[in-house]
Amino acid sequence: MSTWLEGKPLAERMKAEVAEKVSYYKDKTGRVPGLVGILVGENKSSQVYLRSKERASQQVGIAAQILRLPADMEAGALKAKIESLNRDENVDGILVQLPLPGHLDPLDIISVIDPAKDADGIHPVTLGRLLQNQAVLKACTPLGILELLKFHRIPLAGQEAVIIGRSLIVGKPLALMLTNENATVTVCHSKTRDLPAVARRADILVAAMGQTAFVTPDFVKTGAVVVDVGINSVSDSGIVASLFGNDAGRLKDLAEKGYTLVGDVRPDVFSKASAMTPVPGGVGLLTVAALMKNTLQAFIRLKGL
Ligand code: NAD
Repeated sequence: MSTWLEGKPLAERMKAEVAEKVSYYKDKTGRVPGLVGILVGENKSSQVYLRSKERASQQVGIAAQILRLPADMEAGALKAKIESLNRDENVDGILVQLPLPGHLDPLDIISVIDPAKDADGIHPVTLGRLLQNQAVLKACTPLGILELLKFHRIPLAGQEAVIIGRSLIVGKPLALMLTNENATVTVCHSKTRDLPAVARRADILVAAMGQTAFVTPDFVKTGAVVVDVGINSVSDSGIVASLFGNDAGRLKDLAEKGYTLVGDVRPDVFSKASAMTPVPGGVGLLTVAALMKNTLQAFIRLKGL
């Protein structure tokens, strides 16, 4: 019997814990954590993601603000803006929503954020400290995945974990976190030879490559735990039918929104896995909850509470 690892129950619990602490510190200090999300340009998905982060902040009592900046903003001006947020006492967390417009180098921009305010956990200092297994603000999506695996009491120590995708925000930090939990970790990418064979070694298989329904049952050892990080917007009704048949929810998505969100894992992997995260409703919700946790953590440290 396979089970769905729904993100919602844990995300709600994580946010409730943050809300309780925010209210406690508000009573004690008269202050609440402040989070600023920087949006450069008008990328549609970025706007949706930032709005969900803003909504979650409102839910837990974090003072969130989206800073909307023009798409042609110069790197120097953007860095100066971030530096002023670094100095602002009311701001505890800063995140730069990626992707940035092509003329801006994301690594260059992110490196300007004060590591103490690095709510997304991807500043080079933060990642270096993670490498050293120090307590740091952790990259949100990997942190959410780790919390989800622990919440469901999925053993990590000694387990074979295979991560497909080596991005700075998901694959690489997750590899470090799972290594720190004593899993044996393999990171795969577009140049990996015989990917299905490597993936089949996994007790825990994480798909984070941004390729619609790429992972088929052939990639999966029977009984593996599968974490699907991918968020792909699919509007082709033929592809949707081939993946989901006549699923009423998917047909409704297509009719009402013109697209449905599909992960990197084919839905028919579910019956081969012991457990699998759904898309939507899995890892995405935990990413936002982890951001709330990080912002609170940054506030506690910055204010010496
Ligand atoms: P990215 O585009 O930065 O990196 C993709 C990685 O996948 C690369 O390392 C690449 O080598 C690898 N890859 C691509 N095609 C491959 C292939 N055919 N075979 C093997 N490896 C391949 O990706 P990202 O920013 O980590 O995002 C990955 C996916 O996760 C996207 O769909 C994104 O939308 C989603 N995402 C979801 C959340 C969430 O909260 N659920 C958060 C971040 C990213």
